[in-house]
Amino acid sequence: MQDDHRREDEWFRENEKQLLEAARAARARRERERADEEASSERKRLREMHYMKCPKCGHDLKEQDLEGVKIDRCTHCEGVFFDAGELDQIFAKKAEERRGFFRRLAGI
Ligand SMILES: [Zn+2]
Repeated sequence: MQDDHRREDEWFRENEKQLLEAARAARARRERERADEEASSERKRLREMHYMKCPKCGHDLKEQDLEGVKIDRCTHCEGVFFDAGELDQIFAKKAEERRGFFRRLAGI
């Protein structure tokens, strides 16, 4: 009879331990989900705040076409900014122009 009572206590203790662990794991999962959500909404907020704004003075950037390459120019400080690959395109164009210039100069 005493053994039965002890087994019952152990069963409850073990069951309680499992419930507490499950609750702790669920809470940790919810915390991770909230942190992920906050991180993505914070990223979205920052993107909206800084998109097409000058990194130097914070004024609006305006897209311009420069020899077929779209560049972003600040409407205030006139700084010019390039997206990834745009500067390479300009260098490529300039290199072609230089080659053309030297070909014309050399008469070939
Ligand atoms: Zn600026």
